[in-house]
Amino acid sequence: MVAVDLFLPLKLSELQSALRELNHAPTKSLGQNFLHDKNLADWIISCLELAPGDRWLEIGPGLGALTNFALERSKNGILIEKDDRLIGFLEERYPDLRVVHQDACEFDTRTLLPGGPLKIFGNLPYYVSSQILFNFTAVTCPATLMLFTLQKELAERIAADPGGKDFGGPTLLIGRRWKVRLLRTLPGSVFLPVPKVDSAVVLMTPRLPGELPACEGGRFEKLVKLGFSQRRKQLGKLLGGEVPDWPDAAAALGVPATARAESLSLAQWCRLASWNGQSAAPDPATGAQDVHGEIFDVVDEEDRVVGQNTRFEVHRQKLRHRAVHVFVFNKRGELFLQKRSRWKDICPLVWDSSAAGHVNAGQSYDETAPRELEEELGVSAPVHLVTRIGACKETGDEFVGLYRALHEGPFHLPPAEIECGAWFTREQLERWIAARPGDFAPGFLICWKAWLKTLQPPSA
Ligand code: SAM
Repeated sequence: MVAVDLFLPLKLSELQSALRELNHAPTKSLGQNFLHDKNLADWIISCLELAPGDRWLEIGPGLGALTNFALERSKNGILIEKDDRLIGFLEERYPDLRVVHQDACEFDTRTLLPGGPLKIFGNLPYYVSSQILFNFTAVTCPATLMLFTLQKELAERIAADPGGKDFGGPTLLIGRRWKVRLLRTLPGSVFLPVPKVDSAVVLMTPRLPGELPACEGGRFEKLVKLGFSQRRKQLGKLLGGEVPDWPDAAAALGVPATARAESLSLAQWCRLASWNGQSAAPDPATGAQDVHGEIFDVVDEEDRVVGQNTRFEVHRQKLRHRAVHVFVFNKRGELFLQKRSRWKDICPLVWDSSAAGHVNAGQSYDETAPRELEEELGVSAPVHLVTRIGACKETGDEFVGLYRALHEGPFHLPPAEIECGAWFTREQLERWIAARPGDFAPGFLICWKAWLKTLQPPSA
């Protein structure tokens, strides 16, 4: 029997009697250390700056020590709790909230996208804090702020400055997209049972555009993991085959060729990941596309070539021209979408087809589709025409050839063009598009509609 009228157990004695009433013994293997300090709980939630109606998600609510304070500020919340013994209690106590009974390490952050931006927090179970952190810092998570209580050592590691023993893989892998600030440490005595380790609260906010040199996420991760695989070894030896011209790269970064992984700053790691043998990552502001030299065929209403003009004039005068979109599927039937780079002159930071681009003057649609696949995703694969779409306002006066291809990745995404990418199921996309069409490039939405139409059986 669940005690739904249980008062908020925020004194040690209250928490003990609440646990007795619920017949609940804290489980060590679930990292259950319950907070019993009202002022601290209130302070943690105040750091979120929740406004009424703001969407939030709590990981591991337990008996609701933080939940009540969040609920006081906004009712638009989601709880993810793994312990099945607490689910009934949470559902009855918080009927306005969505209670998800799941392991937060396996929670699919793509399902949060239709609901839009949200703030995420939790006093995390320490045995899986890193896994939860990596899951919720995925590119598909629409969090605008995260606030977690972690084991102090982990908090110090992800908030570390270069050069020290704490600075390492986790600092960089999380730090490339999130700015981490350690707000305060907490003594074990505020939890029941008292954990053997101290805790710390970290605030994580997304990095601002242009804060770091642009680089490809996959390449960055690969080099960081390799570089920190043996901390004491010099980077030149560890990076070996990946950066064969390390002495030149080191000189371009301004570090000695004998440098170890921990002596490179986050910005230097980003520049290293974009080292191309001649230059390391440009200043963020110069990541913008050089679009001035492009010439397109101008076409009439029947898609017949009637002239040529520069990209600038074609767009300025709204002249009809040609483009391709490629939908890349994997064997599971998921579609890969790219998030357009912040440097794009049209529709920055919205989700778009796997690859898309203009047909250059003198080229055909069929020639352009594989070229775009190569240029935007760094792969080659057979492409098949799905359908053609007529030029209209929504396509930006483009006739579009929509192609499909099959590929499992991984892809190499040029950072000046593409922010990141991810696979999505058809159901996920349908829900997300219906809820938030503004998250997508208009050209993709037209292609998506056209794609769905091709899947329908022909009407009699
Ligand atoms: N928020 C509560 C508090 O501050 O008193 C509880 C914090 S306790 C440190 C961690 C909570 O996470 C517990 O409720 C535990 O059952 C839950 N938990 C443990 N493993 C989890 C997982 N993999 N996914 C989701 N919740 C988990």
